[in-house]
Amino acid sequence: MPTFRELLNQAKAKIREVDTATAEQTITSDPNAVVVDVREADEYEQGALPNAVHIPRGFLELQIENKVADKDAPVVVYCAGGVRSAFAAASLQDLGYTNVVSMAGGFGKWKNEGRAWKTPQALTSEQRNRYQRHLLLPEVGEVGQQKLLDSKVLLLGAGGLGSPAALYLAAAGVGTIGIIDMDVVDDSNLQRQILHNIDRVGERKVDSAKKTLTLLNSDVNVVTYDVRLGADNVLDIIDGYDVIVDGTDNFPTRYLVNDASLLKKIPVVHGSIFRFEGQATVFAPYEGPCYRCMIPEPPPAELAPSCAEAGVLGVLPGIVGSIQAMEAIKILLDLGEPLVGRLLAYDALEESFRTFKVHRDPDCPACGPNAGELVIAEYDELCMPHPKQAPAATGA
Ligand SMILES: [Zn+2]
Repeated sequence: MPTFRELLNQAKAKIREVDTATAEQTITSDPNAVVVDVREADEYEQGALPNAVHIPRGFLELQIENKVADKDAPVVVYCAGGVRSAFAAASLQDLGYTNVVSMAGGFGKWKNEGRAWKTPQALTSEQRNRYQRHLLLPEVGEVGQQKLLDSKVLLLGAGGLGSPAALYLAAAGVGTIGIIDMDVVDDSNLQRQILHNIDRVGERKVDSAKKTLTLLNSDVNVVTYDVRLGADNVLDIIDGYDVIVDGTDNFPTRYLVNDASLLKKIPVVHGSIFRFEGQATVFAPYEGPCYRCMIPEPPPAELAPSCAEAGVLGVLPGIVGSIQAMEAIKILLDLGEPLVGRLLAYDALEESFRTFKVHRDPDCPACGPNAGELVIAEYDELCMPHPKQAPAATGA
């Protein structure tokens, strides 16, 4: 029966050990190099090499192929002092990894020498408890939850669609939620706008929304914009957001948001409702169709009653807004098939969902290959994009 020493010597004889300087050289000079930290979670949380892939030693064989697919990539394995990493490196070689080294001295030596390290982000125990049902989904997990906490979603409107979308996004732990709305809460809103309540009647909608969302989840930073979205501010407001959830109910704003989101390359989750029917789709800039591909020009005003004029069953925005929240989270986590190039139509009276293909329009004046440079400007009733320069006079 070999002793521990003998086993360690056998492992070390099999593998290549490098000092911290050589390890650092490999990591910084080779873009394909992978750093694997095989310590336990509590050790890793105290500090780790930047961009280290964390796989506790006990899970190494189980998880390595999922996390490091390229078996010929240079792999630097480390632990606290260089013992566990020696065994880990031997196991990786047995699994077919051809270019593995174990870092002698481990993280302790690396840190003492003043080399770069960072404290990895980790969920607190309260967050682990709060998001437990997300953590149980391998498709989300701790990495996905952390991603949500680092994400920024902008909601256009704190009304019928914005309400359920905001509630679910906040509950899910989307770390920054921006809300733009310039209305005040009115009694007649409460039939569907579930962010607000009777105590808030007369209050700014953004303030009411912020109170509700902060009470629901204190992890969420709610950023409010009590302004009218216009050509003068749209680019500044949407800048830095990962996803826009559009709950607006008028054509000029939708075209404005479309053109601005194309410029900033931010996906827009679109939703709309009318009486008993709702629609949702995702506009992924230059990947799928944009709003102008789908609706090249707004219908005449008399055929396009605004939400204020048309009736709507109060539950309907709850359903469509929830679908928008789901699509936003799918985009943030890169999950499944978002509604890119597909329009989902919901009919509440039939209780049916249908999806229709929407194609990119090669002649789209906003995202087509021959589209002029987009300029954000206030839109007239035709909502056409403004060319950078006036078209040359034809003299006809
Ligand atoms: Zn387009």
